[in-house]
Amino acid sequence: MTEKMPQLLRSRKRLAKQMPDPATVLVGSLLSRMIHCYKPGCRYCQKNKGRGHGPIWILSVSQGNRRVRQITIPAAWRKEVEDGLRRHAEIQKLLKQIAGVNQALLEERKKR
Ligand SMILES: [Zn+2]
Repeated sequence: MTEKMPQLLRSRKRLAKQMPDPATVLVGSLLSRMIHCYKPGCRYCQKNKGRGHGPIWILSVSQGNRRVRQITIPAAWRKEVEDGLRRHAEIQKLLKQIAGVNQALLEERKKR
């Protein structure tokens, strides 16, 4: 074992322990948008000064082949969706870091 290996193994273990539970991950972007009903007399939708209704929240998910699926998210679910997206990003980041450590371990093993 080279002297670097115990340190690399320790960081790998530490990173793996930080891995969040993947059960609730979500992929995509959460967007918000105002909508206009255009009903006559609606004070939110008056021409050029109404701000519209909302915001409404939309989870936009790429389906490949330039196709995008958009799912309207009730405002009460916003935090849950944001948590799922954040969790996915954290897992991706940790996986990259662990793969980096494993690559260094491969290189150390070849030095023996
Ligand atoms: Zn309106």
